[in-house]
Amino acid sequence: MEAVESRRQGLVLIHTGPGKGKTTAALGVAMRALGCGMRVLVLQFLKGSWDYGELHVSEGFGGRFQIRQLGRGFVKVGGAETDPEDLRLVAEGWAEAVREIDSGTWDVVVLDEILYAISYGMLEAEAVAAALRDRPPLLHVMLTGRNAHPALVELADTVTEMREVKHAYTRGILAQRGIEF
Ligand code: ATP
Ligand code: MG
Repeated sequence: MEAVESRRQGLVLIHTGPGKGKTTAALGVAMRALGCGMRVLVLQFLKGSWDYGELHVSEGFGGRFQIRQLGRGFVKVGGAETDPEDLRLVAEGWAEAVREIDSGTWDVVVLDEILYAISYGMLEAEAVAAALRDRPPLLHVMLTGRNAHPALVELADTVTEMREVKHAYTRGILAQRGIEF
């Protein structure tokens, strides 16, 4: 057991790409980590208005699992069109993420959809990279969203790109409760 413990180290994992499964896979890791007795925090950037099923799971874990939405659920982006309120929410969310990463409270921190905020120019990749480099050494951090910034791909230990083979949405099937949200 001691040998296993001494090999323990914190990882940075990225789920990116256009196919479905980035958030789903992060929640799968969260479930696995919780089963191992670990403490897991999920911070969802940009999300806010939808009633995601995962928001209702935390009861029963005695504070070991928390999930917080940091956005409004709909973001208008592109140059001058970016709403200052969305920028403010991302900045505030990022400050909260840094506090939580440095707090020593968690074994796993998921920064869900943060890669969108970065690719939309709402958050500096370098600031995120610096916080990840300086994090507690045993902390695992997962980042999700399309268009992962190259600096973060470089820094990450494990990077997975979801590829779309098919998605029900392209046949006009709307998001299904329990599968998409
Ligand atoms: P999920 O939360 O289902 O794992 P995701 O995190 O990979 O999806 P996001 O970019 O965060 O994908 O988009 C979230 C929503 O968009 C989900 O409802 C998801 O099913 C849907 N979605 C993901 N990929 C596609 C796609 N290629 N085409 C259409 N809709 C998609
Ligand atoms: Mg997602």
